Amino acid sequence: MPRPTFVAVSESALTHNLQRVRQLAGAARVWAVVKADAYGHGLELAMRAFAAADGLALVEFDGAMRLREAGWKKPILMLEGAFDAQDQLLAQQLDLSLVVHCSLQVELLLAGAATGPLSLYLKYNSGLNRLGFDAPSFRQAYQQLRNSGRAGRIDFMTHYANSELPGGTVSALKAFLQVTEGLNGERSTCNSAAVIGVAAAHQDWVRPGVMLYGATPYHDRSAASLGLRPAMQLGSKLIGIQELYAGDGVGYGWLFKATAPMRIGVIACGYADGYPRHAAANTPILVAGQRTRLVGRVAMDMLMADLTPIADAKIGDEVELWGSNIAIDEVAQASATIGYELMCAIALRVRRIRVP
Ligand SMILES: *Cc1c(COP(=O)(O)O)cnc(C)c1O
Repeated sequence: MPRPTFVAVSESALTHNLQRVRQLAGAARVWAVVKADAYGHGLELAMRAFAAADGLALVEFDGAMRLREAGWKKPILMLEGAFDAQDQLLAQQLDLSLVVHCSLQVELLLAGAATGPLSLYLKYNSGLNRLGFDAPSFRQAYQQLRNSGRAGRIDFMTHYANSELPGGTVSALKAFLQVTEGLNGERSTCNSAAVIGVAAAHQDWVRPGVMLYGATPYHDRSAASLGLRPAMQLGSKLIGIQELYAGDGVGYGWLFKATAPMRIGVIACGYADGYPRHAAANTPILVAGQRTRLVGRVAMDMLMADLTPIADAKIGDEVELWGSNIAIDEVAQASATIGYELMCAIALRVRRIRVP
């Protein structure tokens, strides 16, 4: 018998969320971001669900290879560009577009492992201070690439530091438009938060990630309120029940103590499955269709829930840790993290199920 712990991914929810992006982004084309195994949802499955996207964007070259092997014919954008000369050769063979964000990548291109012209996305650092050129070196890199004969298209991108804050993109967008002014190429700036919140930033291509998976990029607006559908369900079953007396403790360190007689359910899911160990007391959990709460410390393979609201709960009952009833963002918030981290952290041992 396999453990009852599973992750179910809904293709139709992914497709719905892509349509939602289209509604919001108007005429802009869509790079569906599928890095980190499609935010933990499965790369090939996401590829099928995002068949209507204009391109797929990721950071892993083995992932790009898998996409081509699985039959993806449309553009693929490598968001961190090439890590070495071999990658540039691979980009040529697989027809991948490469971000160019630093002078080493320019030098590699000029040194020329790849012989044919490559599709490039020159990246501007608009204040995130992670990847990208500042304004003077951006123009210089552009000229070097243009003159090299190694560049086919050169398009332009930046990535925001504060896109989820009101007005958080204004100065960065202005600087990006300034540094690319008069240059012939397409422009891409928007992650999910900017797709939703900053119509002026949509430009030629948007790059949504987390919203495609049905989680929110904001800390104060739910995915449901944004018209998104959760694509991932983390589920399991009750594998034990304990009757407690007043004063009994639960789990390692007795983090929770019963103040009155009560029943608790033991659920086969722990931090080694990807459930956050730091989930706070009272994090919501669905048991047999009823909302209840986490009690005690999350262990490697198990966690415990209060069965008080579910009088007839029994071993074998279905549990949803997150999904369409318990938003992943609720669990994330209770664990001092974001939905992104939880969906990417589902462990290898968790059984994967496809649902329509
Ligand atoms: C991950 C990523 C995105 C998508 O961001 P979300 O917040 O998940 O929408 C877009 N652009 C770049 C460069 C990224 O690395």
